[in-house]
Amino acid sequence: MRPQILFPLFAAITSLPGIGPKLAKLVEKVAGAHVVNLLWHLPYALIDRRYAPTLIQAEAGRIATVQVAVDEHQVPRNPRQPYRVLCHDATGSLTLVFFHARGDYLAKLLPVGEKRVVSGRIELFQNTLQMTHPDHVVPLSERDSVMRVEPVYGLTAGLAPKTFMRAIHHAVDNAPELAEWIDPALLKRETWPAWKAALIAAHNPTGDAELSTMSVPRRRLAYDELLAHQLAIAMVRNQNRALPGRRLKGDGKLQAKVKAALPYTLTGSQIQGIAEIAADMDSDTRMLRLLQGDVGSGKTVVALFAMLVAAEAKTQAALMAPTEILARQHFATLQPLAEAAGCRIVLLTGRDKGKARVRILEGLADGAIQMVVGTHALVQDDVEFNDLGLAVIDEQHRFGVHQRLTLASKGKGVHMLVMTATPIPRTLMLAAYGDMDASRLTEKPAGRKPIDTRTVQLERLDEVVDAVGRRVKEGARVYWVCPLIEESEVSDMAAAEERHAMLRGRYGERVGMVHGRMKGSERDKVMEAFASGHLDILVATTVIEVGVDVPQATVMVIEHAERFGLSQLHQLRGRVGRGDAASTCLLLYQNPLGETAKSRLSIMRETEDGFRIAEEDLRLRGAGELLGTRQSGLPEMRLADLAVHGDLLQIARDDARLILERDSKLANKRGEALRTLLYLFERDAGVKTLQSG
Ligand code: ADP
Ligand code: MG
Repeated sequence: MRPQILFPLFAAITSLPGIGPKLAKLVEKVAGAHVVNLLWHLPYALIDRRYAPTLIQAEAGRIATVQVAVDEHQVPRNPRQPYRVLCHDATGSLTLVFFHARGDYLAKLLPVGEKRVVSGRIELFQNTLQMTHPDHVVPLSERDSVMRVEPVYGLTAGLAPKTFMRAIHHAVDNAPELAEWIDPALLKRETWPAWKAALIAAHNPTGDAELSTMSVPRRRLAYDELLAHQLAIAMVRNQNRALPGRRLKGDGKLQAKVKAALPYTLTGSQIQGIAEIAADMDSDTRMLRLLQGDVGSGKTVVALFAMLVAAEAKTQAALMAPTEILARQHFATLQPLAEAAGCRIVLLTGRDKGKARVRILEGLADGAIQMVVGTHALVQDDVEFNDLGLAVIDEQHRFGVHQRLTLASKGKGVHMLVMTATPIPRTLMLAAYGDMDASRLTEKPAGRKPIDTRTVQLERLDEVVDAVGRRVKEGARVYWVCPLIEESEVSDMAAAEERHAMLRGRYGERVGMVHGRMKGSERDKVMEAFASGHLDILVATTVIEVGVDVPQATVMVIEHAERFGLSQLHQLRGRVGRGDAASTCLLLYQNPLGETAKSRLSIMRETEDGFRIAEEDLRLRGAGELLGTRQSGLPEMRLADLAVHGDLLQIARDDARLILERDSKLANKRGEALRTLLYLFERDAGVKTLQSG
């Protein structure tokens, strides 16, 4: 249970002054739905309002706070004309300018004959000083609250900066004082303030040094976040280790049969990965191993060998994939091979219903079935195993810790293999998973040709459409990925539909489309038609991003490539170049390109090495670009920036380990504070493992 002291922080943002249901939607979009999210929404710039000249001294172009008397309101006859309020001080005059103003509101804000403090940018227009839409207009008594260095927060259209700032500062000022969770020696060495003091300081910087992610209070907050995460992972990991493992020793017989049935030979890194996994399974501690490998590097067959080891040891194995399409594809790949070894393998997804499903469940429960491939349908309550020995999770970042643990809980001492196509740089690996064991597939299967990657301006769309037509005539199969428009599935779909209609107009029936809104069965039908060659061109939103395998596809067109993150582009490109024919990837971009987008596209042209791309991605994102975090499955960090807080990450990792060595149940006084920390950063899955373990 969440500690009571945190309740106000997890209240809805509508509990803050000035945030009604309508604004709440906007605030939620920029920061989050709970008060605590506003605490993490730190300012990114400053406005210095301490420049307070008389009007005669005021320099145009500068932000100034001036004290004026209100003389006259000039209400425009035409509403498209600006509303003007004339003011003066002892030295000169100033015109305040408002567009689309409400007169009654302005009359109240700036009553004629009274004095006001106004703050905003001074402009010189036709030889008169003016200020358009002052940021602040307050009575003289509130001068001090305006004349300061004001933090600037990231906004969204329709959200007034002042309202938002007030809500944030209310949240910060009313945050509770929390018991210290940081080791006193570290606190002293880093001269860190207490949590709440750090929070207040981070939201009230008075200069660039304090605004920096390197400032003392910000480093403390970053450390809190890193520590919460490292502690949570360490707890899960400890629990994993504490549970009795079981030795699963294969005799190699089934593996030998499959090796003989494979139409290719395994690569060196596949062989090594399989050996590492087999060694883990043949030990008393439970395996928790990450198998990393680029798209197309052949992870599935490595998973199969792990499953064969489980079967040789007379236990069952389950492979869970994030989507129906992927589960089906894995099943199609694995079935003939597993059966060549005499194993029974089944597919279980949300679509299996009635008698067929019951029969599968019976087979799993009585052990007649050795292997199952499925979606999250596998973690449903009524799925039981006779003796589950191994769980494999594909594209692990698509699942929560909870789903992983649930699958593992369906057996005793279940070994776990998680796979990801996102090669993760070492720092991020540590940040996301602590010191998890990992195997890397660094070699591509033999016979793969490099992909010819080109960038093309979107204005040349017509030429691209022609070129695609020529390639189709030569027998190519083409993916056409449509742009991500904001974060709305609806508009993504509209773009895909439009492109689909256009390509159909040109190339007829053999153009298909898949998108996220389609029913699973429809989508699979289209994918199958593409895979079997009944469609030449497949227009898609990013649903094809993960793992789908059509080796005959040789052309990938990505529209608005500048909107995708580097790892996402890499993943998409990985859909082609899977067979032995030469492949092309066309990245269509729209000018003007930002610096980061430019670098991303040029890296894509330069290399196909996923590990290098991952490093570059981190470097670019370190420069403030956060696109791609979600795709790569890394925890979203609000306060810590791994490009600048790498040293803190190491400390947090070691600290987390030490904490659990000394107080594995988080039972002492510091332990209690640490539990609060976990809840504060919503890493409560860690706390739950304490309770169950
Ligand atoms: P990943 O899941 O890593 O993206 P897959 O496991 O789907 O990759 O493998 C991609 C393709 O490569 C599949 O068609 C698979 O049959 C094939 N493949 C796997 N290993 C090899 C190998 N050693 N030699 C040739 N082809 C291979
Ligand atoms: Mg795969």
